[in-house]
Amino acid sequence: MRLYNTLTHTISEFEPLDGKIVKMYACGPTVYDYAHIGHLRKYIGDDILRRTLEREWEVKHVMNITDVGHLTSDADYGEDKMEKGAKKFGKTVLEVARLFEDDFLKSIALVNVLKPTVIARATEHIEDQVALIEELVSKGFTYKTPQAIYFNVAKFPDYTKLSRQDLDDKIVGARQEVVVDSQKKNAADFALWFFTTGKFANHVLRWDSPWGEGFPGWHIECSAMAMRYLGPTIDIHTGGVDHISVHHTNEIAQSECATGQEFVRFFIHHEFLRVDGEKMSKSLGNIYTVKDLKDKGFSPLAFRYLTFQTHYRAEMNFTWEALEAATNALTKIYEAVSVFTEIHKDADIEYERDFFEALGQDLNMPKALSILWDLLRTPKVALSHKAATIREMDKVLGLDIFENAKLMNIIPPRVLKLAEDRDFLRHNRQYTQADHLRNRIEKMGYVVKDELIEGKKKKTIIVKKI
Ligand code: AMP
Ligand code: ZN
Repeated sequence: MRLYNTLTHTISEFEPLDGKIVKMYACGPTVYDYAHIGHLRKYIGDDILRRTLEREWEVKHVMNITDVGHLTSDADYGEDKMEKGAKKFGKTVLEVARLFEDDFLKSIALVNVLKPTVIARATEHIEDQVALIEELVSKGFTYKTPQAIYFNVAKFPDYTKLSRQDLDDKIVGARQEVVVDSQKKNAADFALWFFTTGKFANHVLRWDSPWGEGFPGWHIECSAMAMRYLGPTIDIHTGGVDHISVHHTNEIAQSECATGQEFVRFFIHHEFLRVDGEKMSKSLGNIYTVKDLKDKGFSPLAFRYLTFQTHYRAEMNFTWEALEAATNALTKIYEAVSVFTEIHKDADIEYERDFFEALGQDLNMPKALSILWDLLRTPKVALSHKAATIREMDKVLGLDIFENAKLMNIIPPRVLKLAEDRDFLRHNRQYTQADHLRNRIEKMGYVVKDELIEGKKKKTIIVKKI
């Protein structure tokens, strides 16, 4: 398995550190609004990664739910996202958190994303976060102002190893924070613990800590929960590309300073999804949810299929036309599989190998899909072997191919009756009338085929037109 690692900027061979269990941490959503198709793309990407890894190893997949601490900027300025969501929807912070966590989990389940092994809420891991901050305080990596406990980035020489940014002009946002808290020592220093004072005097969620009442900054939750469930060094950490310069950079700094060990071996970053070539935004009215897809009659799995057509490290452009085309392609796959009557115990060695090799090359899904299509079209592989191969492929694709193919097989009773009448007419050598019925069946979207049995007797097969 070869993966692109943002830390090294290269594609290199991946193996779990202990040779058996892959420790995988995925940054989860901030649950202050509905999950949109950009989120879906990211978590489908994680799902493909996990399912591919699971062919070789066991995967312990941990995902957090951010229900406290994330400000509207990824750095330390702006409004608290959860409180913003509470105002918008006229609910309490925790009501909003649970409502959108539920919406998120249901949305990703609809696109067949496997449930993470552990789903960890930030608000239920405050003790872990406080303990980690205490470790950093005791080792001298922090300082205190009246507003927050900060991590001092000057104490970690490797601070920019992930982003490779020049620290002097790092993130405009961080500079804005200097204005917010004039006692910050470096623009990039980030809050580990905010005090319920100043602009956060009325912050709803608050806990006691050794330094005073307050709430954790956003970044510390991921380090604390990743280490709680996976230990000091994790094999794979995923997130969107927006997390490289601030969130993951800060996670590395605080984790490695606390433990003195490497925090993450492979950082995987997913590119963004855009809609009609634009960033999703409220003003453009193009923030679509899985419900929007369903309301227009699209299956969530057609969206899953659509995401496979773009490599996870390339920007994906969503259009309704592309989703329509993906729907047609997926239906063709289901229909092609619906004529398979038996599944051989063995897959076709070459197609199976090529498909999983494509996945093993930094999850090359567009290539894997083209191999699936080649397999469907080739006359060289027997149908029962095709079926066995597709069964293996679908363990990663997660398109429920056989379940949906069965639905394709449900021929309407009216079509069955016409076919039965046609058989009767043919039996009586009334071929003109029989052909007339065949045409009527075709108009209903079905094709009648006559297959020879043992070179003689004819069997009638009805398939949907492709
Ligand atoms: P958030 O709830 O904003 O923290 O996002 C949760 C995850 O979804 C993060 O890893 C983001 O990088 C990712 N994400 C957010 N918006 C998009 C998008 N438009 N396309 C792809 N991924 C996204
Ligand atoms: Zn995170």
